[in-house]
Amino acid sequence: MPELPEVEVTRLGFADRIAGARIEAVRMGKPLRWALAVDPSALVGRTVLGVRRRGKYLLIDLDEGLLLLHLGMSGSLSFSRDPPVSGTHDHFDMVTSHGTLRLNDPRRFGAVVYAQDESAPLAVKLLGGLGVEPLGDGFELEAFHAGLKRRQAAIKQVLLAGDLVVGVGNIYASEALFMAGIRPTLAASRISRPRATRLHAAVREILARAVERGGSTLRDFSNIDGQSGYFQLEATVYGRAGEPCRVCGTAIRQIRQGQRSTFFCPICQKY
Ligand SMILES: [Zn+2]
Repeated sequence: MPELPEVEVTRLGFADRIAGARIEAVRMGKPLRWALAVDPSALVGRTVLGVRRRGKYLLIDLDEGLLLLHLGMSGSLSFSRDPPVSGTHDHFDMVTSHGTLRLNDPRRFGAVVYAQDESAPLAVKLLGGLGVEPLGDGFELEAFHAGLKRRQAAIKQVLLAGDLVVGVGNIYASEALFMAGIRPTLAASRISRPRATRLHAAVREILARAVERGGSTLRDFSNIDGQSGYFQLEATVYGRAGEPCRVCGTAIRQIRQGQRSTFFCPICQKY
């Protein structure tokens, strides 16, 4: 599943190139998770102003209205001057004067949705519940620790929930907790200030590093130029059950939390 760093890498891959482009045609394939919510032909003639990201949504600002794009479980975008003929899994093509933006999504959990502005009910429904951006100025230690204190659930689950801070997906949650030396099963409310400080820094560092390296090598993800990154190859705990901890040599453990796999070192993350 594309996580925040992959979505940010995707954005960086085409945002500059599509800015200022005029929309010439919009073609839809099979139904995606949500409907476009506007007649595709109504978008023709509009201009793309730029591309922002909020959580795992890409916001494509037009001179009138915006498109909210989500990659779902298996979506990937490409942007090229001369794309091949649409294939079975290409479900959204936006032809512009600068090139064609194409969503390929075999499992079709992704979506492209039109909204008049960010205060439109549909946009509020999709974006309204999102926590602060981990890489932005809004991610403050004080508020983060206060939020942790109010939550009784295991810290890994609190990170994944996305209402305190967005974009800390399954891989990055395990990695950040290892970096901070915190056991993934610990109740969030029991995390002390020094440990909250370490976790806050770890979340930022892990995600920033992943963006820098071009996202992870998740099996369904390919970035805008069809190449995948290599963050996962350097994972310290994720996917390494039974292998020696890179710090202390103890075998990495794998457990299940809320149907998802969690990896941790029982020595480096004692409690
Ligand atoms: Zn260890």
